[in-house]
Amino acid sequence: MSEATALLRLQEIDLELMRSKKVAQDLPQRAKVDAARAAVKKVMGELTKILGQRKDIEIELQDLEEDKVYFADKVTEIQKSVSDGTYRDAQNFEAALATLAKRIEKAEFDSNALLGQLETVERAEKNARDLVAKLEAEEKAQSDSFKTDVESIRAHVSELAKEREGVVAQISAQNLATYDAACKRFGGIAVETLVGNRPSVCRVALQPSSYTDIRRSNAEVTTCPYCKRMLVISKEDQS
Ligand SMILES: [Zn+2]
Repeated sequence: MSEATALLRLQEIDLELMRSKKVAQDLPQRAKVDAARAAVKKVMGELTKILGQRKDIEIELQDLEEDKVYFADKVTEIQKSVSDGTYRDAQNFEAALATLAKRIEKAEFDSNALLGQLETVERAEKNARDLVAKLEAEEKAQSDSFKTDVESIRAHVSELAKEREGVVAQISAQNLATYDAACKRFGGIAVETLVGNRPSVCRVALQPSSYTDIRRSNAEVTTCPYCKRMLVISKEDQS
């Protein structure tokens, strides 16, 4: 590999390394993973509220069940004491039973209303859990896809870095230092070639005298008289 070819390849490699770094930074999965995580957090907050509501309803239902058992026991007790003839206020036992029946009825009514609420809350809970599962699956898919892409970029970068070492070995220390400085100065585009009599980057046609001088010098690497980038003249051009 001629030094000219090596410099051009070095430029290509460095630009590709820059592009790869940018691609890795801009991978869209990162934002999607964050969005899914934020959504899971939000739904988990909702779920906590829903579970609190369910607990409250369950406690109320339990209380009503206990009331019903208590009232039913009372009914049995009154009926027993009436048939035993030991009921203290025999005149009013029918009124007492009627009151208990109303209380039991009220407890039944309240229980049914709560069971309706419980069903609604359980449906909300199921929806929330389904949504969390869906969001977690989405997060995992994005995260896996991110890892795959990062891995592939890393492999590509490592291949380029290896090739870069070989290419750099073909370039003189002085040209390498000029290249590094030009890279910094020109945002990574340090090298240009000649297309006819025009440098490939600045595209300013060389004066015939400059062009002749460059050709005559037989140098592989010179400096563009206009933009001051490294101007590489490949041997193939010098036929
Ligand atoms: Zn130029």
